Amino acid sequence: APQKPAYRRVLLKVSGEALMGAAEYGISTEVVGRIAADIAAVVAMGVEVCLVIGGGNIFRGVSGAAAGMERASADYMGMLATVMNALAMQNALEKRGVQTRVQSAIPMASICEPYIRRRAMRHMEKGRVVIFAAGTGNPFFTTDTAAALRAVEMGCDALLKGTQVDGVYSADPRKVPDAMRYERLSYLDVLARDLAVMDASAISLARENGLPIVVFSIHAPGAFAEVMAGRGRFTVVA
Ligand code: UDP
Repeated sequence: APQKPAYRRVLLKVSGEALMGAAEYGISTEVVGRIAADIAAVVAMGVEVCLVIGGGNIFRGVSGAAAGMERASADYMGMLATVMNALAMQNALEKRGVQTRVQSAIPMASICEPYIRRRAMRHMEKGRVVIFAAGTGNPFFTTDTAAALRAVEMGCDALLKGTQVDGVYSADPRKVPDAMRYERLSYLDVLARDLAVMDASAISLARENGLPIVVFSIHAPGAFAEVMAGRGRFTVVA
């Protein structure tokens, strides 16, 4: 039965690696399609959704720097990678009848809109899914921080972090079988215990602005809608 969603407006952060599927690199159109279907279901519930997608499936600044590139240049390449992922997701969403706009923090006029906060807000009010590409537009940042920043700018009620597992655990549940999943954590718990939720600048920004972070599995089909309905398995950082 349809249920009133737990949140009115959310930002979903999907890491680039989540889009690879079984491959070691790049974009699986099958996986992107599945995640797009989950997003479409949440849009159909009446939730206003915006997205930040990472780029780690294509390029990471730190890897480029480790291979001898200047870090800032490598980071720009990483930001360009997020634009490719954004276009793949836009395509998959539109195929499912969801209206979208891509806005890039680095203007790319022939491909997408530039990031304009008030314009993005307007798109969301009209029910369009806004995909924020190119991270924050600045090197030395991550798409986690971009996600926290855009979520705060858009006045989102929560930042949804779609991960490999269904929440935050005391240890990696894929390696430690009796690792326990937390239901609720404070921002300071995450920072002090260095729990792998999002990087510290993202957590700090969320904390300063009272933005709850909901960690759930992006790989469990239908999990996004379950979490939006207040059910399912997840960890809340607040
Ligand atoms: N990046 C950046 N500034 C930003 C966001 C991203 O320089 O504001 C670069 C950085 O090099 C990063 C890459 O883009 O390694 C891909 O983003 P990220 O590693 O956050 O992607 P994810 O881990 O979510 O796939």
